[in-house]
Amino acid sequence: MPLQRRVSVLFDEQSIAKRNTEIAQSIATRQPKDLLIVAILKGSFMFAADLMRALHHAGLTPQVEFMHLSSYRDATVSSGQVAILKDVESYVRDRDVVLIDDILESGRTIAFAKDLLAARGARVLTCCLLEKPGKRAVSIEADFVGFECPDVFVVGYGMDVAHCFRELPFVGVVEKA
Ligand code: 5GP
Ligand code: MG
Repeated sequence: MPLQRRVSVLFDEQSIAKRNTEIAQSIATRQPKDLLIVAILKGSFMFAADLMRALHHAGLTPQVEFMHLSSYRDATVSSGQVAILKDVESYVRDRDVVLIDDILESGRTIAFAKDLLAARGARVLTCCLLEKPGKRAVSIEADFVGFECPDVFVVGYGMDVAHCFRELPFVGVVEKA
């Protein structure tokens, strides 16, 4: 049985594409200067790629960089620690940076990255595909949010469980065996 069969769809491809267009238009409304997208790996790679295309269609000319941060180690619970596995390579001083992550949960990951880039002189806006309300351990809200997500462990559209399911074009929940 294909893997897709075991994941129930929470946010489908069409809904995600529509939301990406809306987010890109909201970003364009801010008239960002020297726009740099910083995507937090690995979970946001697919969202960031689609958002880059949506930003192009919204008339912007963003550049892109990646930070690889990790607070999960093959587990479905956060360790509470954020580690830098890869840093951005471009300068960020005086640039409008849109920091992209897949899910805003405790807020530790995005708060850590935002503080780091702001300390280097960037003007940082934050953008998360999903937000799980009521789960915050640090005080931070994203400037742009795709969807509010129920308190379930989701996979797909870049997000994994034990390295699997990142390729799915939708966000879903792994069904119990
Ligand atoms: P935070 O630092 O906000 O607690 O954690 C956010 C990170 O935890 C996300 O970038 C993501 O990597 C991971 N995460 C949180 N909830 C989920 C989930 O439901 N599914 C997956 N695959 N990762 C999650
Ligand atoms: Mg992540």
